[in-house]
Amino acid sequence: MVDLKRQYEKISSEVDSAVLDVIRSTQYINGPEVKEFQKELEEYLGVKHVIPCANGTDALQVSMMALDLKPGDEVITTSFTFVATVEVIALLGLTPVLVDVDPDTFNIDPEAFRKAIGPRTKAVVPVHLFGQCAHMEPILEIAREKGIYVIEDNAQAIGADYISGDGGRQKAGTLGDIGCTSFFPSKNLGCYGDGGALFTNDDSIADKLRMIVNHGMKKRYYHDETGMNSRLDSIQAAILRIKLRRLDEYASARRKAADYYDSAFEGEENIQVPVRSSFSTHVFHQYTLKTGNVDRFGLQEFLMDKGIPAMVYYPVPMHMQKAYSDPRYKKGDFPVTEDLSKRVISLPMHTELDNEQLEYITENVLSFFKR
Ligand SMILES: *Cc1c(COP(=O)(O)O)cnc(C)c1O
Repeated sequence: MVDLKRQYEKISSEVDSAVLDVIRSTQYINGPEVKEFQKELEEYLGVKHVIPCANGTDALQVSMMALDLKPGDEVITTSFTFVATVEVIALLGLTPVLVDVDPDTFNIDPEAFRKAIGPRTKAVVPVHLFGQCAHMEPILEIAREKGIYVIEDNAQAIGADYISGDGGRQKAGTLGDIGCTSFFPSKNLGCYGDGGALFTNDDSIADKLRMIVNHGMKKRYYHDETGMNSRLDSIQAAILRIKLRRLDEYASARRKAADYYDSAFEGEENIQVPVRSSFSTHVFHQYTLKTGNVDRFGLQEFLMDKGIPAMVYYPVPMHMQKAYSDPRYKKGDFPVTEDLSKRVISLPMHTELDNEQLEYITENVLSFFKR
């Protein structure tokens, strides 16, 4: 699905020397590389504060801890997401309230969000799934009106631009109260291990986030609240600095591969290519097809036999997972999510796809429908 080896080979001399420098410096934790990366990411995103942390799941957890949510408070998110979003809500004793998604963008349906708001709703987590932004303007408007915090799960869309009605652009993850991201190796900005970060424009929230990732302390050994140990290590920060400089170039390589797929599949009635929304650029974390009335796992197996990986993100919606099933939800409650979970399939998508590979992949996908 991703080719991290070829990507590394192109930057290996830079990466190798940066990693060696950190090792020789012995400043493995909170070294200068972390601070530099933080500043460079703030500048790239146009956001006031970046707080690095250990991974994307921690970022989500820390964001909810910082907002003083109490057990039983409700947090709204979608049923069509990676588990981490729902997992941390449950882990903190909060109540996940799931809603349906838009059939074209796979992102939270703003009207479904509005309808799910109750007296205990404290936050909403729009997930910018597969590389494009949720429709933030209506979400922010509803949230402001009702006094609800907005936490963006931006693990899959770092670098994407949200485009407002007036044509203004802001980076994904910087529109809500807090943005969360992951630097897991296969993410669009991936390190060579685990990593994550939080973003905010609010000074007091930033203070709180910094304290929580550092054992709840501002002054050493004086603990003002219950925190965590969640750090980005210096070696990962050094690697991320090198890759951040190439993030836009990486996004265009992904977009070029997506364009190739789009035109190759034009006219194939069994598949719908990803819809590109008017309010977001697409950084193609995944290239996800919606299949028609076809045997999707049959297609996956057919491709695997030809040496082409294809994955189903995600086959089981959160409300149908054993861990998150809840008497409030039953099969059929989120028709769009359930339909998508039966029809989506993602093709290889990364920065190193060349035309020969794309031709091989698309020809094989199309041949499946001609058998
Ligand atoms: C990857 C991912 C996360 C979690 O990130 P980790 O760094 O793996 O903890 C959270 N949300 C979404 C949508 C993701 O894709």
